Amino acid sequence: MGFSRDRLFIGWSPGIFSSRVDSFPVSLSQESTRQLIGSALYAWSRESNLDFKETRTGDADIRVSFVEGSHGDGYPFDGPGGTLGHAFFPGVGSSAGATHMDADESWTYNGKMAGGENHLAAAPPHLF
Ligand SMILES: [Zn+2]
Repeated sequence: MGFSRDRLFIGWSPGIFSSRVDSFPVSLSQESTRQLIGSALYAWSRESNLDFKETRTGDADIRVSFVEGSHGDGYPFDGPGGTLGHAFFPGVGSSAGATHMDADESWTYNGKMAGGENHLAAAPPHLF
């Protein structure tokens, strides 16, 4: 599926990173979205030296948001299908640490892959 490979997180030092979900897809509850992002980050942490801890307030190393179309970073989304998301390396700049998921995708809970729907739990590890 269409993840932006040029936006991969590479060269991270081992450590604990905070994550926060800033916005949510219309097709999932906030709690389902948090659980799925959390399990996806956990799956990633098991294959790396990284650890992730969700925070609900303040700044975070990784900020996940569901946005649609052109959203101000020069990498517009393309509606249903195609690109599912992209992520920016943490550091300096307004987009640093931002993880954008295409809000126009039909995100689903728990791997119901029928039709053009996307399995959110499987998406972020490929994204990162
Ligand atoms: Zn973006």
